[in-house]
Amino acid sequence: LVELDRLHLVHPVASYRGHERAGVRVLKSAKGATVTDSTGHSMVDGFAGLWCVNVGYGVDSIVEAAAKQMRELPYATGYFSLGSEPAIRLAAELAERAPGDLNHVYFTLGGSDAVDSTVRFIRYYQIARGRPAKDQFISVEQGYHGSSTVGAGLTALPAFHQGFGVPFHWQHKIPSHYSYRNPVGSDPAAIIAASTAALRAKVEEIGGAERVAAFYLEPIQGSGGVLVPPPGWVKAMRDLCRELDILFVADEVITGFGRTGPLFACEDEGVVPDLMTTAKGLTSGYVPMGAVFLSDHVYDTIADAAGQGVVGHGYTYSAHPVSAAVALEVLRLYEAGLLENGRKAGARLMAGLHSLADHPLVGEVRGRGMLAAVELVTDKARKTPLPAAAEPARRIFDRAWDNGLVIRAFANGVMGYAPPLCCTDADIDAIIERTRMTLDQTLE
Ligand code: PMP
Repeated sequence: LVELDRLHLVHPVASYRGHERAGVRVLKSAKGATVTDSTGHSMVDGFAGLWCVNVGYGVDSIVEAAAKQMRELPYATGYFSLGSEPAIRLAAELAERAPGDLNHVYFTLGGSDAVDSTVRFIRYYQIARGRPAKDQFISVEQGYHGSSTVGAGLTALPAFHQGFGVPFHWQHKIPSHYSYRNPVGSDPAAIIAASTAALRAKVEEIGGAERVAAFYLEPIQGSGGVLVPPPGWVKAMRDLCRELDILFVADEVITGFGRTGPLFACEDEGVVPDLMTTAKGLTSGYVPMGAVFLSDHVYDTIADAAGQGVVGHGYTYSAHPVSAAVALEVLRLYEAGLLENGRKAGARLMAGLHSLADHPLVGEVRGRGMLAAVELVTDKARKTPLPAAAEPARRIFDRAWDNGLVIRAFANGVMGYAPPLCCTDADIDAIIERTRMTLDQTLE
């Protein structure tokens, strides 16, 4: 398999370096929060695949829901004026649970095309209300919004996409709230003031609010290293967007579906976005699906103008009935106890990681619920980062794997955690213990 993979299976270019040397690691089976590789080595999956298998592995009722739908109706387009029962029911169930008036749901295949779709919806919206010049988009440094070209342009992690001519000229960034290494210090009020000032300044630089269509953020920045904004930051940005008549988009592809405690992290913040993107936990990774949530005013404006110069198109696999049937069952499981278990397990995870704070390599422990990170430093007082190369990250990942733990090791020396919400106390304790072992070995 390793040889066939090397010869024929293309991985993202960014992973070539480690991959070429070490070869692919092949997962064979999984149950609950435990994954087993092709050599029979079992591990706790501390990252739920790629922050997505929120319900855990091997849930029979999901398999049955998919099989039943495949037998009955494996495909129906969500395009034109066609639909299927699971997709319609799923949209209604999601709308009922989404914050505020996010009552309209557009299904995609994943997070990147959900983000792309928001850009189109927002352009339609601004054109429909007679503001075609509001065509500039702003997002946050260290944010991640997908690997499609438009999403990559909103993403502010150049390592993922440098050399591709993105960001586009209409995509702009403001600095992150990253409190551990913020030039304004770690005081929440100072960070909020700096970010709101930065957004105002960026809007002015671009030509004023009459040029700016939308602002994007993640309630907690995931791929940037699990960066948790100070309390009130998201709300302050939301309020400023309303003041400036800029649409506010929350990218909840990682934070949605119980990852931080509630169904959506915006609920933690007391914020209702104009648009919201989700994927990952929507189907828990069993099948691909993403969803864009549109508020009443955005949807109604676009819908009223449809046919008057506002046109659009969609994806072959939008609103896929099998994905929708899976998502309906996943949603049922969240509410049948998984969200609650995730909140309990999340508290245990955070307490466990905080107990590692005095380890000589640990600069900061941060997170909320089942989304957490440990930032490693070589000198705690100076916050000296681990060497900024893929190499230490690869070694930490390898050691953790050998110790029976799957984590995400970010290139800047951050260990990322996003375990399945089904984790037992024993799973969480294993994550903490194996992290400690990995840190001790890294010290050696
Ligand atoms: N937005 C965020 C916040 C994400 O974390 C991701 C994926 N990690 C995406 C968008 C893109 O989602 P996908 O990989 O499903 O296209």
